[in-house]
Amino acid sequence: MAQLARKTQVVTSYTDAPALAAACMPDDALFCVNTAALEARLAQFQAGFPGCVSYAVKANPSPQVIAALAAAGLRHWDTASVQEMAAVRAIQPAARFHYHNPVKSRHEILAAYSRFGCRRFAADAPEEIQKIADIVGSDNDVEIAVRFVLPRERSSSAHDFSTKFGAPEPVAAELLADIARRGYQPVLTFHPGSQSRTPAVYVRHIEAAARIARTAGVTIARLNVGGGFPATYPNSKPSPLPEFFSAIAEATKRCFSGTRLPMLECEPGRGLVANAMSLLTRVKLVCSDADDAFINDGVYGGLMEFMQVPELQPPYRVIRNGEVLTGPTKPWKVFGPTCDPLDVLPVRLDLPLDLREEDYIEFGTLGAYGLATATRFNGYGEHDIVAVDKVFNGA
Ligand SMILES: *Cc1c(COP(=O)(O)O)cnc(C)c1O
Repeated sequence: MAQLARKTQVVTSYTDAPALAAACMPDDALFCVNTAALEARLAQFQAGFPGCVSYAVKANPSPQVIAALAAAGLRHWDTASVQEMAAVRAIQPAARFHYHNPVKSRHEILAAYSRFGCRRFAADAPEEIQKIADIVGSDNDVEIAVRFVLPRERSSSAHDFSTKFGAPEPVAAELLADIARRGYQPVLTFHPGSQSRTPAVYVRHIEAAARIARTAGVTIARLNVGGGFPATYPNSKPSPLPEFFSAIAEATKRCFSGTRLPMLECEPGRGLVANAMSLLTRVKLVCSDADDAFINDGVYGGLMEFMQVPELQPPYRVIRNGEVLTGPTKPWKVFGPTCDPLDVLPVRLDLPLDLREEDYIEFGTLGAYGLATATRFNGYGEHDIVAVDKVFNGA
């Protein structure tokens, strides 16, 4: 492990995780990142999405990911906190920020507006609009996006986003009218839920946005369709991205015909970064009779989302002596490294019959909400990030 730099520095790059495991034999869990995969995915969004592409920093705020996206030409950043703005600005001084967390303290609004030059805010309550107005005064460059919410359809996404934020349609119309009356740029936004399975959920929301604008009597400057674009997981095989892009473009033209078409904007997190990282863990103890295996990362670390949303189970493979193991398997109960009994994976994993101490287990498709949600519980969770030329995603 000594030859790996702590945290933010990548000293060198390896072909893939098996090569890295053979060369370094890391004893702490680490993330592998492939920045070329990230750049390719960004290019797909930029070429296909019919509007401005920003990145939801919360999905993966690591400097490697921010730097790779910045180098590939990304200029707009959807941030949920002032701390995220600082992390991006340290890498891209001219970054443009969207503050799309619907709830912000006055101190945070002021810091975003004056320190970070942020002019785009979201709100879903009249009290929040008043706070923003108190701070930005009569600056009519400021955009306020009303975050609206529709009743949830059960099958639309893996991760429901409708329970915390968002004004119902009639309230959203009132808020939008109020924003226009105050002289700010009126914008509508929604989040369809993370890992949306089909484009239909975006179409439903775009139809609602047109109704809200009509009810409010407001021509919106912009329509922000949020994140929610899917990645591919073994138990979640969504429609391909281009189908999302064309459905969004078509619905916007259809629903806003007869008015000035709003400029479109999206803020993918998962759909952009999930495929760019894997998590390399090591087996610490094998109890063969009980089918129990203990590894050096778990649900308090890079595997937290797996516990919350079983559909987002990452693909995995076992590595020994630089080779991927194949052959007969059995279902193992896999525990994480902390002393908390909750630190166990939510389903058994099919791992080799002869799983051994110091084997590696690599989990793929963990670029989104892996590193981002890892805690430091029991002293674990400070992951190195190592560059690889090929990253495992189960394919
Ligand atoms: C979390 C979030 C996103 C990103 O969501 P993904 O499902 O990861 O694409 C985008 N916008 C807002 C406002 C969010 O809260």
